[in-house]
Amino acid sequence: MKSEVDKSDCFVVEGKLALPYTYFAGKVGSKFITTIRDQKKILGVRCRQCNKVFVPPRQTCAFCMEDLQNNWVELKNEGVVTNFTVVRYNDKHLPRKAPFILAMIKLDGTDTSMPHILEGIQPGDVTIGLRVRPVFAKETTNTILDIDHFAPG
Ligand SMILES: [Zn+2]
Repeated sequence: MKSEVDKSDCFVVEGKLALPYTYFAGKVGSKFITTIRDQKKILGVRCRQCNKVFVPPRQTCAFCMEDLQNNWVELKNEGVVTNFTVVRYNDKHLPRKAPFILAMIKLDGTDTSMPHILEGIQPGDVTIGLRVRPVFAKETTNTILDIDHFAPG
């Protein structure tokens, strides 16, 4: 049986908190984002032990823990869809109004996929392996959304 808390002798204030914050993306994450912003290039990191290439870049290898922060590789701005879903609900934290396509995109020459928005195609026409390219934002937000979206091409 669920019991209610008796608040009859309590002074209760109902309110909302605004919680501004600053997020530091770290040395590796910062270079990744600022290179997208300033040069319209997507960087990854390569592990010298495993030869795996990670995008988004990581400070250490997910497989062997090798330090990766100075092993930058410049990638071609193209890749393939490895998975996708259609987001069919609205939420103020989502980057687009529903419906929109959220795809996992594996850039050529990498071993990982990254999530991003896919536009310029109807959901029913998306296939695994679809070739895509990034479309960079006209105005920077200093976030991953400096790649505005990916599109077939
Ligand atoms: Zn490794």
